Amino acid sequence: MTVNNKVALVTGSASGIGRTIAEAYVEAGLNVGIADINMDAATATAAEIGAAAMPLRMDVTDENEVEAATDALAEHYGSVDILVSNAGIQHIDPIVELDYRDWKKLIAIHLDGAFLTTRACMRKMVNQGNGGSVILMGSAHSKVASPLKAPYVTAKHGLLGLCRVIAKEGAKYGIRANVICPGFVLTPLVEKQIPEQAAELGISEEEVIKTMMLKDTVDGEFTTLEDVANVALFLATFPTNALTGQSIVVTHGWFME
Ligand code: NAD
Repeated sequence: MTVNNKVALVTGSASGIGRTIAEAYVEAGLNVGIADINMDAATATAAEIGAAAMPLRMDVTDENEVEAATDALAEHYGSVDILVSNAGIQHIDPIVELDYRDWKKLIAIHLDGAFLTTRACMRKMVNQGNGGSVILMGSAHSKVASPLKAPYVTAKHGLLGLCRVIAKEGAKYGIRANVICPGFVLTPLVEKQIPEQAAELGISEEEVIKTMMLKDTVDGEFTTLEDVANVALFLATFPTNALTGQSIVVTHGWFME
């Protein structure tokens, strides 16, 4: 797929990984919808990126907001060709203390959000007749489990199944689907959980980083925002169904397929 005049919807792109992907896409020549529940941050991000970025108010768990924002993006730039379903949160608690509301909230953002945005974008892609690329933001936790993260690990594993169904149903339209599985990247989502895990486990923040987060990497390094954005650009522009239904693990060797 060439990037000329192509349009990407990136959810959760007012911060962290989504924002860096949006910036990389615009630099490569794409137009991007900066879709986020935090409209002030989305507006500021789009203003900083420039005319190729459009801020969109979107709670990914709200069917009407997902539909309206996807329509607005397609109307503004003429199509929707790439989806990066990236919006996400983390919640730290042992299962025995996990509130049902916290479980449901996390599952809804990651799984309902992936479904609703995929459906809205796939409908556009099918009608446009030019194929497309669906990228779901998984995690190393799509492949492995950690304590204290039951809803997150469950949701991230679930995205692998959704991706495979999109790949099978999308093939005849030239719509590909893949999952990116990053290791720990220093974003607000991770910065918040370091002190939370330290308190829950009674260890120092340094120990959380060394003995938990980066313990199994080959080099003790965090994955960077740019590492993930490079893979997202590669998947957005890969031209055929040869690469579909896959998950690409970007973790400094924490998990090896
Ligand atoms: P982040 O907190 O920096 O950004 C998340 C963004 O999602 C925020 O802008 C937030 O406003 C938005 N958001 C939250 N709920 C939303 C909703 N209901 N609707 C729309 N937007 C919503 O987090 P990040 O680290 O950049 O994470 C992005 C994605 O990458 C998540 O899916 C996360 O699980 C995944 N991930 C992160 C890491 C990591 O180490 N940071 C590793 C693997 C996977």
